[in-house]
Amino acid sequence: MAEKIPGKLTMEKLVSLCQRRGFIFQSSEIYGGLNSCWDYGPMGVELKRNVKEAWWRAVVQERDDMVGMDTSILMHPQVWEASGHLKEFADPLVECKACHQRWRADELTGNSCPACGGELTEPHMFNLMFKTFMGPVEEEANIVYLRPETAQGMFVNFSNVLNTTRRRLPFGMAQMGKSFRNEITTGNFIFRSREFEQMEIEYFVKPGTDDEWFNHWLEERLNWYVKLGIKKDNLRLREHTKGELAHYALGCYDIEYQFPIGWSELEGIANRGSYDLTQHATHSGRSLDYFDEETRERFVPYIIEPSAGVDRSVLAFLCDAYEEEPDKDEIRVVLHFHPDIAPVKVAVLPLSRKEPLTNLARQIHADLRPCFMTQFDDTQSIGRRYRRQDELGTPYCVTVDFQSLEDNQATIRERDTMNQIRIPIGELRNSLLAKLAGEDLFVLPPGGQIWKEENKGA
Ligand code: ATP
Repeated sequence: MAEKIPGKLTMEKLVSLCQRRGFIFQSSEIYGGLNSCWDYGPMGVELKRNVKEAWWRAVVQERDDMVGMDTSILMHPQVWEASGHLKEFADPLVECKACHQRWRADELTGNSCPACGGELTEPHMFNLMFKTFMGPVEEEANIVYLRPETAQGMFVNFSNVLNTTRRRLPFGMAQMGKSFRNEITTGNFIFRSREFEQMEIEYFVKPGTDDEWFNHWLEERLNWYVKLGIKKDNLRLREHTKGELAHYALGCYDIEYQFPIGWSELEGIANRGSYDLTQHATHSGRSLDYFDEETRERFVPYIIEPSAGVDRSVLAFLCDAYEEEPDKDEIRVVLHFHPDIAPVKVAVLPLSRKEPLTNLARQIHADLRPCFMTQFDDTQSIGRRYRRQDELGTPYCVTVDFQSLEDNQATIRERDTMNQIRIPIGELRNSLLAKLAGEDLFVLPPGGQIWKEENKGA
């Protein structure tokens, strides 16, 4: 890999790249923007989908003990009473008497307004759930809430899933989807917004086996980030102090990532004990017990909950992949995404727009695009096009030149090393599939060659 330019990645640089390359835009930008809401553009949506798909593959598809769910955002209001959200899901809010800006009291260091130095009001608890009305009549009886977490949809379906899938403990449910929190202070790009997506697991275990499963999930979840390319040095575990723990929780760790804003929570993993099922059983009047046929025991399962944020994961993948590298007299900005995460896997770049070169390049593109996400780009100089793909994090470019018309070969240029190899066009698809799957083998077809260092591409 090329030499790196040491230096700190700032959030401003990342926001600018995301805007410039169509990853993430401010919501409703033409109207001045809506604070703390973000739109994923053509590249961002691919990146986000890849993150979610990688998670689903790891926690549902590749496991025998997990099933997927997709529950509704609006739920019966009693759910939030039982869960404790109506009472407890609140932050202490203070308001500046001079400029009327609002702040989270527990995040302030002094006792004056950080914006203007004005005097602050006494803190009062502010509930973070968004309220709306179900149906055409706006009255108290019709109040519903936008869910502030996806978890409750899984707890209340415990019996449904148990009965329909004939699962035995331990087993879990996974769900990803939008959550909403009317956060008092937002900011730091997509790190904290009011509308965001979560990827949550509720894993039901027999009490007494919970420590073992808690450790299992800590390890699984940490390694998920590492397998997808996050540097180990940028990840750490932080145990919640007694004061931070919810009263019912038996233990909680945060997986923290070293963001440009410092070490911050990426995912929380909690041992929730029997709290959730007990609460919902009490409030609904429906039993949420489990009967163990082997031991003939009846009990309320404990829950281990790994709860991750999609947007925070996207941010961590962006930060971790970002590098600036010296390249001749310029600086090359590259996103070294793991291939599974990269929004575009392969770009097809004809060296010229002249026929019959374009036609050949189009044929190659048509052959590759059913296999993975591709781009076809025939604008500007080849150097500029490589730069653009580097900034998108595209692992491979296929360059088609005039010689290709004669020898039926094309060049694969690697993002990370900038090395180039030339291989027969008929072998492109399999070779790229192997490379994307992590098999970095030499390809030495008849007439093919490994390009030497001096042939390194622009
Ligand atoms: P924080 O302490 O940062 O407010 P939290 O402890 O309240 O987070 P959880 O309730 O544990 O967060 O939610 C699980 C995950 O959901 C978090 O680890 C984070 O990745 C994500 N998340 C929570 N709130 C937000 C938000 N406002 N914006 C983006 N992601 C969020």
